[in-house]
Amino acid sequence: MKLSKLFFRTFKEVPCEAEITSHRLLEQAGYIRRLGKGLFIYTPLMWRVLQKVSHIIREEMNEAGAQEVSLPLLHPKELWQSSGRWDDFTADHLLYTVNDRERHEYCLAPTHEEVITFLVSNWITSYKQLPLNLYQIGTKFRDEIRPRFGLMRGKEFLMKDGYSFSDSSVMMEQQYQTMREAYSKIFKRLGLDFVIVAAHGGKIGQGKSEEFQARADAGEDVVMICQNYSVNLEAAESIPPYFPYEKPLKKMEKISTPGVITIEELSKQTQVVPQLILKTILYKLIYADKEEFVAIGIRGDRAINELKVATHFSSIEVVLATDEETKTLTGSSFGFVGPLDLKLRFYADRTCKPMTNFMAACNEIDVHMINVNWERDCPRPEFGDFLLAEEGDACPQVPGGTYKTQRGIEVGHIFNIGTKYSDALSANFQTQEGKQRCFYMGTYGIGVGRTAAACVEQRHDEKGIIWPLAIAPYKLFITPVTIKDEIQVAGAEKIYELLKHFEPLLDDRDERLGFKLKDSDLLGVPFKLIVGKTFVNEEKVEIESRAGEKMLVSFTDLVRWASTHIPLQELGFDNAKVSELEAFKRLNI
Ligand code: ATP
Ligand code: MG
Repeated sequence: MKLSKLFFRTFKEVPCEAEITSHRLLEQAGYIRRLGKGLFIYTPLMWRVLQKVSHIIREEMNEAGAQEVSLPLLHPKELWQSSGRWDDFTADHLLYTVNDRERHEYCLAPTHEEVITFLVSNWITSYKQLPLNLYQIGTKFRDEIRPRFGLMRGKEFLMKDGYSFSDSSVMMEQQYQTMREAYSKIFKRLGLDFVIVAAHGGKIGQGKSEEFQARADAGEDVVMICQNYSVNLEAAESIPPYFPYEKPLKKMEKISTPGVITIEELSKQTQVVPQLILKTILYKLIYADKEEFVAIGIRGDRAINELKVATHFSSIEVVLATDEETKTLTGSSFGFVGPLDLKLRFYADRTCKPMTNFMAACNEIDVHMINVNWERDCPRPEFGDFLLAEEGDACPQVPGGTYKTQRGIEVGHIFNIGTKYSDALSANFQTQEGKQRCFYMGTYGIGVGRTAAACVEQRHDEKGIIWPLAIAPYKLFITPVTIKDEIQVAGAEKIYELLKHFEPLLDDRDERLGFKLKDSDLLGVPFKLIVGKTFVNEEKVEIESRAGEKMLVSFTDLVRWASTHIPLQELGFDNAKVSELEAFKRLNI
């Protein structure tokens, strides 16, 4: 491609809404253009990148035995009602819904479990046809609460989604492992530094699930790592450092704490450590058809994991009770809600079990109680795991191990969803024994745009993007030093022709060399080929890799140089084609 013809533009200015590097660089280098909040146009350059990511995904999925399909984006409401997710997703306001001229309601696909289950039901009728794995690469729509970070979290985005159908939990586990391996290969080929972490199933299901997290400080997720076990903070079980609670129970007393509503302030004023203060939080649990309130107690030095709360109570959403609601329910206000005389269901994190002689609020404004003890002073709550894990906590999976934290970008997610959808949609097959049984299903997603953005997040410098070879939209940037020198211009053209199979860009613009090279670095092209005086005098080309490595290569050696630096696989040849070509080369030696 000649740059004079390429539809592209680079920018000096930093886009004002870009909060993270990948978003900034992708806009500055003209890969994406923002159309609205969470909406992006992919330019020809970006589309090439996304096609390359998709190509790698396709190769590995096909290799793993999956078959590609293309599913509609408009889904009838009734289908989503039959799985129960119409209400779930609308309660979360995640679903875009539309009506047709006959007033039939649809949603714009946020994911495709329902449609794929519909497709397979009645087509796959016998265990003999299993396992089956279908996937697609296509658009998804989600009305995200906080669309941000460019392609990381869009309202409309590209996803590879795949679904497996099995006859048993054993076959399901095999399918899951096959996908886990395929995903690992995909992200390795993309040059990503990633970690596989245990995850929370979220809205899709409750079975075993793992995420592929690309390590990056700009990541929205927090990953807890303990030796070779990793888990998303959302799902992490942990044990806080030991705190010695005293044995002899003391007499409960009331103390005055006017206007003190934070644990920090309370601890400072009373000289009681936060581990000895019980914090009580009022939550509203939102269900499809009702709302309920619960109070949850947690040690003063720790925070509650609200996703654990939602999971514990099987609610769609969990929100903090408002001031108004707190007043109506407890007669007190924020900061003074406590387990004493509480007329609400009261739960507490299991780390509160050993607490003795602790301080707690008592639903009376400006007052706290000290030396409170379970049972003697207030009913023993139902204990559960509501704790938000922290770095330094012990990891129950690794004896003696403690967690370290790291930020990550969730680029992929694999999960065993059991029979949740096949049950709901009555998708059955006949077993070997002649019985009807629901399919065991797995679902597997990769954010295609998010993955490309994660590559930029991990690979860039002050000059711009450093694409991994595999997904660089063009591999070579060829330019004469000056467009005024005819030999250089003709030489650059000749090299461009010679290396046409290696995805070259020819910078034929009438610009200064420095300006052109800056563009090349911003775009992240892996190699710059500079055709200058050494070419005129000695037919040698100056080559500089994006990482700064310099080489001087003779014109006659260029094809050999290119074939060693840009392997065929990176040019999109599939493995079969590569072995064919290699065999052919060997025959010709
Ligand atoms: P998240 O927790 O980040 O909201 P999710 O768990 O809802 O993601 P899945 O339903 O598992 O996402 O979707 C599969 C993959 O699609 C994710 O792993 C992620 O890479 C990508 N993805 C999800 N939501 C978005 C989005 N709004 N924009 C871009 N990519 C997304
Ligand atoms: Mg996910």
